[in-house]
Amino acid sequence: MVNLRKNLSNVFGWRTKRKIVVIESDDWGSIRTRSKKDYDAMLSKGLELDRSIFTKYDCLESNADLENLFEVLFRHKDFTGRPVVFTPMSIMANPSFEKIKASGFSEYAYEPFTETCKSYPNHDRVHALWQKGIKERLFVPALHGREHLNVSRWMKELRNENEGLRLAFEHQSVGASWYKGCRLPAYLAAFDPETEVDIQSYTKIIETGAAIFQSTCGYEPRYFIASNSPEPKSLEKVLKMAGVDYLTRYKFQKYPLGNGKFSYELNWLGKHNKQDQVILTRNCGFEPSDPSNKDWVDACMSEIENAFKWHKPAIVSSHRVNYVGFIHHDNAAFGLKELDRLLTNIINRWPDVEFMQSVELGDLIDD
Ligand SMILES: [Zn+2]
Repeated sequence: MVNLRKNLSNVFGWRTKRKIVVIESDDWGSIRTRSKKDYDAMLSKGLELDRSIFTKYDCLESNADLENLFEVLFRHKDFTGRPVVFTPMSIMANPSFEKIKASGFSEYAYEPFTETCKSYPNHDRVHALWQKGIKERLFVPALHGREHLNVSRWMKELRNENEGLRLAFEHQSVGASWYKGCRLPAYLAAFDPETEVDIQSYTKIIETGAAIFQSTCGYEPRYFIASNSPEPKSLEKVLKMAGVDYLTRYKFQKYPLGNGKFSYELNWLGKHNKQDQVILTRNCGFEPSDPSNKDWVDACMSEIENAFKWHKPAIVSSHRVNYVGFIHHDNAAFGLKELDRLLTNIINRWPDVEFMQSVELGDLIDD
């Protein structure tokens, strides 16, 4: 059954005989759990951060996290002679906890993630490392949103003195989903509206997020994926205005309309929408921090093989959580070791493989 689904997922859409691998990695730039010390304190006070790999390991990337990742990427070259490239799907800002608190939780405030880095201990070269990654085509960011938060829902829960969320707030952390045995309301999907009014507020969020992206990276965001759940379809136009030519979609996508209503659409690789934006669809996964899959290298190799069998590029989803060791050193060490093994296997198996970043693939499809 799984096999049939994987084959079916590669039948439709754009094809190529070239062996192209794109590695998309979500969440760079965003905070999650602030530190090991905050993790231990929150855990002891009832936030069950050990129930998810994201709250257990994920953290704003440090200098060392980026340097260690770049080292692995640089070590592996494809037949064009260029190193492997990552497409970090990036968050451009984080909540400004002090300002929100000073307003008595009446007003939301945010800061660019480069500001957030200033209050973290091993993060003073993160922005410079991003720029080095861009210049050397190792780490070429695309847009994942302004903040990894549903601002209106998060603020509403904070105002209502939701105990679990207030506790995480005190530790300048986000992402916890369990508190003292109860599920916390979901608040990480930035563009998941409760009402139509929420949808109107998203235009400004995309515009300001895109502006921070431009000033941080030195180019417009041309590729976008929303955080945690799909954005309303009406935002495609707003994204186009911000420079976005390429969008990630599920093959069967549910678009929120607000008030619990949805519209639905089938998507495939290379499909054009009304704004002439081109759809990319992920068809492989590599999440070694997640213990549910025994061998992520083997699993990912067989997904890539399936993609190539159908003359499709392999678009791999691999979150930041796998490569950060600021909270748990062993987590990044393992993720990088497995990434190294995956890249070795790919290049050995397909010597004519080409590693691309998402926008390069979009340009090729659009050409
Ligand atoms: Zn995300």
